[in-house]
Amino acid sequence: MTLKWYQSLRFKIFFSYMCVSFIPLLIFSTLTTRSMTSAFIRNSVRDLSRSAVSAADQVNSVSYMKEESVRAVINADLDDRSREGLYRILIFDDTSFCVSDTNHEESGKTLLVPEVLSALSGSDSAVYHPESGIVYAAAAIVDESSGVIGAALLVSSIKEVLEPIRDAERSLLTFMVVTLAAISILIVFISRFLIEPLNNVFSAVQKMSDGNLNARTVVNGRDEFSEMGRAFNIMAEKLELADDARNEFVSNVSHELKTPLSAIKVLAESVLSMDGAPMDMYVEFMRDINSEVDRMTFIVNDLLNLVKMDGGAPINIAPADLNQMAIDLLNRLLPLARRKSINLLYEEIRGGVSAEVDEIKLSLAISNIVENAVKYTGEGGEVKIIVDGDHQNAFITVSDTGIGISEENQTKVFTRFYRVDKTRDRETGGTGLGLAITHSTVLMLGGSVRLVSKLGEGSSFTVRIPLKYRQDVPRRRGLD
Ligand code: ADP
Repeated sequence: MTLKWYQSLRFKIFFSYMCVSFIPLLIFSTLTTRSMTSAFIRNSVRDLSRSAVSAADQVNSVSYMKEESVRAVINADLDDRSREGLYRILIFDDTSFCVSDTNHEESGKTLLVPEVLSALSGSDSAVYHPESGIVYAAAAIVDESSGVIGAALLVSSIKEVLEPIRDAERSLLTFMVVTLAAISILIVFISRFLIEPLNNVFSAVQKMSDGNLNARTVVNGRDEFSEMGRAFNIMAEKLELADDARNEFVSNVSHELKTPLSAIKVLAESVLSMDGAPMDMYVEFMRDINSEVDRMTFIVNDLLNLVKMDGGAPINIAPADLNQMAIDLLNRLLPLARRKSINLLYEEIRGGVSAEVDEIKLSLAISNIVENAVKYTGEGGEVKIIVDGDHQNAFITVSDTGIGISEENQTKVFTRFYRVDKTRDRETGGTGLGLAITHSTVLMLGGSVRLVSKLGEGSSFTVRIPLKYRQDVPRRRGLD
């Protein structure tokens, strides 16, 4: 899967940085310079229109328009004003004819200036022309008796005065471009630094999805991405273990089934090659074949039970009297114990222990332990079932005075197909699956199994089952 550049996390980080740093800076500087410029223009327009009114007041007599001598005197004043105020003054009569111009360029011409026409029609106006940077302000010249007799037009260029603001704008822009470049370089490094662990995990995940379960990611430092890398490595480790366990399981199953199958094959071939052998011999061979088939059936049934437990077999939870369950179980196994002259005992530390369990499955799980206890205890030994409980759990302990299990083997006996003494166990008919089934069942019910044993002295298995069944409890808590 290849990402488009704009879908990459690096671009998203870059874009976010831009949004929080560069864009506000751009908006701030643009707004500042704009508002400075428009405030300055507003003030200039207002000042010039005041000066226009003041100039118009100075020439508000009909005689100015008509008499040269009066005009010459006032024009001298207007020249002074124009020099001081750095603006040009033009005086128009009521026909828009330019009577005087402090720049002496337009005098004697009729000019149609919109601001002048507006003033002549009674409304003074002042306008800034951004293209030329010039402000025009016109005010009506009003004679007391004759009304509007002309207009004064003041013209001022604010281009040069605006220049420092433009300079500031240009400096800000340069500053922003430099900042943008610096931020971009910084972000490229930061995002590489931030995203590298993620990319490492990503490439490990890809390798894993290609079937390479050895893939691991390099984890440095301590942040969320590193934690994710760590979690990924742990997950990969577990997957690899699960894969190994599955392979081992499949090879164990094949191996276990191969032994009786080879025996059947040999026996069947012998029967076929025996020509005219006595009937007794045929019967004996067929009996051997039958017992190998029985053994295969045991293994297959045990496997099916185990797979059912692991795959979340339907579970019928109901309150069950565990004291009664233990007594029933004991009665069922009594003939087996008697055959070996084993003393099968029942002890009740607490009566009336009732728990929410799947009674059939739990009974099978405890039977496996008791059958083992009988199987691995010599003639005349003792096997005892003890039922106890507290306000949260029920405890069923099966102890024997048998051969015991070495410390090294105590955790292994719950592994599928694990048998301490392979040859001996084949003779006793064990499949190596009994305790694995017990363990899976107990886990499924939210409990645990504890084993205490000493070689030559005997073993004691304690199954703990919560009195209340809870579906949400994690089921992989292992052994106590
Ligand atoms: P099996 O069907 O072979 O008995 P289990 O899973 O029930 O398989 O037991 C695994 C192995 O643990 C047995 O092969 C045996 O060696 C050992 N084992 C189980 N229970 C006992 C016990 N009570 N005393 C001694 N060894 C035991």
